[in-house]
Amino acid sequence: MLPDFRIRQRDYLLGIASALTQELDLVTVLKRILRASADLSGAPAALIALRQLPDINGDTIGPFRIQAHYNLNPNFVRQFNGVLLQTYGLTESDPLPVIMNELKLRLAAVVRQGHYDIKGTVGLPLISRGNFEGLLLLFGAYRAPLSYGPEIERMLQTFAHQAAIAVTNARLYEQVAHEKMRLGAMLEGSADGIMLMDADHKIERWNRALGKLTQVHQTQAIGQTHEDLIFWKSREPGQDLIEAESSGWPAAMNTTLYVEGDMLRRDGSTIAVGITYAPIFDRNLKLVNIIANVRDITKFKEAEKMKSSFISGISHELKTPVALIKGYAGTLQREDGNWDQATINDGLAIIEEEADRLHTLIDNLLEASRLQAGGIELRYQDVSMQHIAARTKRLFLPQTDKHTIEIDFPADFPLVQADEDRIVQVFTNLMSNAIKYSPEGGTIRISGKTEGNEALISVSDQGPGIPPHEIEKIFDRFYRAKTDITVKAKGAGLGLFLTRAIVEAHRGYIWATSQLDVGTTFTFKLPIQ
Ligand code: ADP
Repeated sequence: MLPDFRIRQRDYLLGIASALTQELDLVTVLKRILRASADLSGAPAALIALRQLPDINGDTIGPFRIQAHYNLNPNFVRQFNGVLLQTYGLTESDPLPVIMNELKLRLAAVVRQGHYDIKGTVGLPLISRGNFEGLLLLFGAYRAPLSYGPEIERMLQTFAHQAAIAVTNARLYEQVAHEKMRLGAMLEGSADGIMLMDADHKIERWNRALGKLTQVHQTQAIGQTHEDLIFWKSREPGQDLIEAESSGWPAAMNTTLYVEGDMLRRDGSTIAVGITYAPIFDRNLKLVNIIANVRDITKFKEAEKMKSSFISGISHELKTPVALIKGYAGTLQREDGNWDQATINDGLAIIEEEADRLHTLIDNLLEASRLQAGGIELRYQDVSMQHIAARTKRLFLPQTDKHTIEIDFPADFPLVQADEDRIVQVFTNLMSNAIKYSPEGGTIRISGKTEGNEALISVSDQGPGIPPHEIEKIFDRFYRAKTDITVKAKGAGLGLFLTRAIVEAHRGYIWATSQLDVGTTFTFKLPIQ
């Protein structure tokens, strides 16, 4: 039979142990430990210092940090925490008595220096599953020194052991919760669509980006299956998820599956995506989850398409002048030709014109690749926009008998700091487009105005215009709007790309506005200084 007080003690300990181990919040656990240790020991003050958790490299940082305390002078807590954090004199592999002894010395030094009312300290190591988690220190005071017999000492040890288990659990829980939060943030923050499904393809996670890609919101997706939500309008050759699984995927741990194609969205439109499926196995190598990363590859596909349409377009552009030059040169050279001077002159004029065309095209191509390689260097000087406008008019007027060209600048329009040759290129490109894309003729107007410290210059025509959905794209490299007039007109889709690059290199901005069957206006804005 246990004596009465021991039964009470045991019950008390059991009560505390169960209250502690049920709690997973570290701060609450530490508070409860402090309260119970005060009850058990009658110590007027106490603290708990925990060992720092391993850092990202997995190295354990040896010393301790005070995590909870009661009834202690805040200066003492700060100073003692300072010495606890110093590794000096301690290593990770030091045996417990060595560590406890070293800490005792440090404590004594702090108490001595600060003349704190602390006398007689009981140090209880918190050890759980062989891990030294931290320390529970019970402090006595000069008027109330601590002193216990072996009985109480043992009970406190038992209590410390329970406390250590509770601390370990709470810290593990904290770590897991933190890890979960990090993963959640990564998943939600990812620009790629991500879904997590179980082995039967039932969706467990569906991030925001995937919601946008598929137009199916998280709340609708979770609980459905992959097959309910992912539909291919067309697919690149190869297997989809179901086909791959029926032929044995995933046979091994690291085998991912890649499926690419046009995926149907909720509104019936399609989007080009590449999905990478990765299996997740449990310890018994049973497939438990599949994680799928869904990437929007529209841009990549467009670039691919643009490249191939560029190559076919450009070879056409190159071939036409070469064929004309060769044709005329061959004809004029024929010995039995007997051409009169007028015919010879006409032929030579065409040869020259086509050679010029080739020249411009090659220049533009070189310029485009130079631009991509590393920007444009500008030679700034004072530039008169009215002058360039007038020159552009003189240059282009002989090329058309259907257009009138108007110039409209206020008399006090300022000189603009810019690279003159480049600005000439901008005017030339906009003017040649205005003529080219308004084949029925009309008025082309070059006008200027200022707004604060900026000069705005516009070139407008009365052509059939550009459909609204094409307006953003016409400044892209090699892009040509899909309009009847564009199909008939010659071009490589480089002019506006170069024009925009020049304007932006001047820290300016260019845009187009257009109204179908009314006309198009290109405006660029440059800082005056
Ligand atoms: P290109 O003229 O060689 O095709 P650009 O880059 O100069 O290339 O122009 C891109 C496209 O923008 C053209 O193919 C045409 O569809 C459209 N575009 C440009 N200027 C005009 C305009 N003034 N009116 C209508 N469409 C235009």
